[in-house]
Parts: sequence; C-alpha cells; structure tokens
Amino acid sequence: MKAYSMIINGKNVGEDLSKIDVTNPSTGNVIATVPDGGAEEATQAVAAAYTAFEKWSDRTAYERSALLEKWYALINEHIDELAETMTVEQGKPLHEARGEMNYANGFISWYAEQAKRIYGEMVPASHSNKRIFVHKQPVGVVAVITPWNFPAAMITRKVGPALAAGCTVVIKPAEQTPITAIKLVKLAHEAGIPEGVINVVTGDAKAIGDAWLNDARVRKLTFTGSTEVGKLLMRGAAETVKKISLELGGHAPAIVMEDCDIDKAVEGVIAAKYRNAGQTCVCANRIYVHESIVDAFSVKFIERVKQLQVGDGKQEGVHIGPLIDEAAVKKVQSHVDDAQEKGANVAVGGSRKEGLFFEPTVLLNVTDDMICMQEETFGPVTPITTFATEEEVLKRANDSIYGLAAYVFTENLSKGIRMSEKLEYGIVGLNDGLPSTPQAPFGGFKQSGLGREGGHQGIDEYIEVKYISVGL
Ligand code: ADP
Repeated sequence: MKAYSMIINGKNVGEDLSKIDVTNPSTGNVIATVPDGGAEEATQAVAAAYTAFEKWSDRTAYERSALLEKWYALINEHIDELAETMTVEQGKPLHEARGEMNYANGFISWYAEQAKRIYGEMVPASHSNKRIFVHKQPVGVVAVITPWNFPAAMITRKVGPALAAGCTVVIKPAEQTPITAIKLVKLAHEAGIPEGVINVVTGDAKAIGDAWLNDARVRKLTFTGSTEVGKLLMRGAAETVKKISLELGGHAPAIVMEDCDIDKAVEGVIAAKYRNAGQTCVCANRIYVHESIVDAFSVKFIERVKQLQVGDGKQEGVHIGPLIDEAAVKKVQSHVDDAQEKGANVAVGGSRKEGLFFEPTVLLNVTDDMICMQEETFGPVTPITTFATEEEVLKRANDSIYGLAAYVFTENLSKGIRMSEKLEYGIVGLNDGLPSTPQAPFGGFKQSGLGREGGHQGIDEYIEVKYISVGL
C-alpha cells in the first residue's frame, strides 16, 4: 500500500503527519494513505503559490500555453494508469474513467489555446488627449476545493483556466479521491510547470478551507460540491471579499414530449441518469413523460435498465459501480422507500446489494410529493411521472431551488427551442443526455451556483479587469 504525500512548492510534504486511508468503494479495501494535513500546511501552500505568482503571471501567454500543452501530452501518455487509479478510488467503471480522463484533459488543451486569447479593449475616450485601455490580469492565488464524483475533471476545469490566465493554485481534493489529484499534479511538475504554481493539500477539510478563507492572499475560491458547504464557503469568502465560483447541487428534470423519438429519448435518459451510478450533479433526477406515451416509453426504458450490469468498475462489461459510501447508499434507499410508501411501484431494482452497490431502479406512478421529486438522489434511481401539457410540465420542472441541468426530448424543433429557453437551468440537453464538454460554459442558475466553467467564459472567472486611463 502506497503512502502519498501532499505537494507544496514542488516538494513532497506531510510524511511525518498522521494518515488518512483511501479505500476502494468496490471492495472496502484500503488502497493508499494521504497525510492528514490542516491549517499549517494550507497556509504553507498559499505562501508557495503567492511567491510563485509573481513569475508565473509575468510569463507570456504563449509560454504558459506551451507548458499546459506539455501537461496535456503527459496526461495522455498516462491515461490508462490515471483511469485505473480513478476506478479504484472512486468506483466508476473503467470505460467511464477513461472517458472522464479524456474530458478532463480536454480542459487543459482548451485553456492552453484560450490563454492566447485573453484580449483587452481600447475604448473611445471623450477627450482628444485621452486614451482608455482595458487590460486583463490574473486574479492571483486561487483556492480550489473539489468533490469525489469527478476526481480529475473537477480539478482540470478549474486549474486549466486558472493557470492559463496566470494564476497560481492551492488544491484540496475530496478526501475520498486524492490520489488522482496528486498524480495529476506530479505530471504537471514533470511537464515543467514551475514549483509553487500548483500545490495540493490533503486532510481536514474545514481546517484547510478556513485557513484559505481567512487568508487575504487567496483572491479567489472555486468550489464544486454540496449546496450546504457552498453556502458556508460563500459566507466565509465575504470576510476578505474573494471572488467565488460555485458549482453546487442539481435536481435535473428530463422531459419526454409526446412527439419525441422514443428510442432516442430512452437512450438519452439512460445516459443522463446512470452515468457514474447516478452520482453526477447533472444526472436526470426526475423524469416527466407525456401521459400518451408513458407506457411505450416505460416498457423500453425498463428493458434497457435490466441490461445494466452492476459490479466492480475494473470488471469488463460493468455499467454501474458502487456508490461512494454507506451514507450515499442509505440516502438512495430512503428515497426509494419513501416513494414506495407514498404509492410508487418499483418496476425494477429497489434495493441495495452486497457492499456499497445499489440496483439500478425504476419507479413508476411517481408523484411530486415524494422526496425523490424534490431532492437530488445521487444514485441509480429513475422516478417516472406523467404530465398532460407543455405549460404544466415547464411549471413543475422549474419549481425547484436548483437550476443546473435539464433535458428535453422532442422531434419538434420549434417546441424544443421554446422549451429550452423557458427552462430556468444553466444547461439544457435538447435530445442530448450528455451535454458536458470543455468548450461549452457549464454552470447553474438559482442555488445551483455562480459562474461558469468551460467555454471561453470559463477563463473570465480568473481574470481581473483593469482600466488604464491615459492622458496624452
Ligand atoms: P459531497 O457531498 O460531494 O462530498 P461536500 O460539499 O461535502 O460534497 O464536499 C466537497 C468538497 O468540499 C470536498 O473536497 C470536501 O472535503 C470539501 N469540504 C467539506 N466541508 C468543507 C468545509 N467546511 N470547508 C472547506 N471544504 C469543505
């Protein structure tokens, strides 16, 4: 079993500290340890990033871009090893882990390009002896706090644009999945990204988070995780008025209209629901099917769900890995039990299997009072309900404090566009169950978050705009 270190200022740190176990959720075995760091290491990392910022931000965009390209190439060379690490510490099937690694690396190459396109402006002045320049500069040291469900992509979609813009970073990966993060940072150093530019700290989340919130040298906080912790961090960031980006919970509706292509809709909902065993913030959480096609849709959908293989992500042919921990399994079971008590029928699945595995589940006759229709389940459960009109379904879909992703299936283009525009969500998959991609802006409305990741918009989160007024 390997003992990993934190990486601060390009050095291994924390060998002398007590350790935190990292376990494989498929087997329950401890696979590695990381140091149990805290405020001291968090502050040490900020000091390193703060010092490194001066030189890193002084480099040309072309130099930073070239280093990001080298990092991208090295990640590509190690993609199989990284995917395997991810499967072992997070549980997702190996083919999904490879998919995530490619997606994650896509952010590095996209932002290596975007680094060269951080354009300023010249604004016409109102006096002939004045000139107005609008200049863009990196914000400074960025604190990056990430969740366990995408151990690589949640890091690269933040660190890629931050480094491209000229910022330096301190990362705290999720306690369940630190190894992928540490390996990525090692490759960044191998690629020639200078010491101190990327630092990674493991250990006590609150102690590390508080140290960063209270440190005025940290100018930006970017977080993906629960709405509850996001709100805490937002409050904490107020003390030193940091910029913040938050990507929080979702509760995605998938709307299947009467004029959809049913096979396409079934495949779209399967993709949107069962990826990562239902543990993504854009997973379809509640399915609204037009009453005229609910039987036809459900029969095909249930058949597809029965084909999904549950097991250790390292085994060939597995579609659904374990849930991340016992609390996750209990939450999913409680949503299913609640729905059943309130009158839903379990068409397939419905219970946990040995260990942390949960059967892919479909619930029929679901009503809006059930918990699964009000809260994110974060597991492989599909609740299906019906609706009669477009107006009704839009109202029900929008009746949520969340606004991350929504899905619509219809072959009527005008209707699809009209509905997409009315949905109060930052991302809409129109006949598409997998909308996430590095070149598009990802982010939520309402309590699903602030800011965008990906796209040309993603780099703006790491930039300060400076106006220089020149008198001639
Ligand atoms: P999840 O439910 O996905 O585990 P969390 O919001 O609990 O979501 O965790 C997301 C990330 O936030 C993890 O890296 C976790 O360690 C970190 N985290 C949790 N609590 C705090 C806190 N009080 N301060 C800073 N980071 C925290």
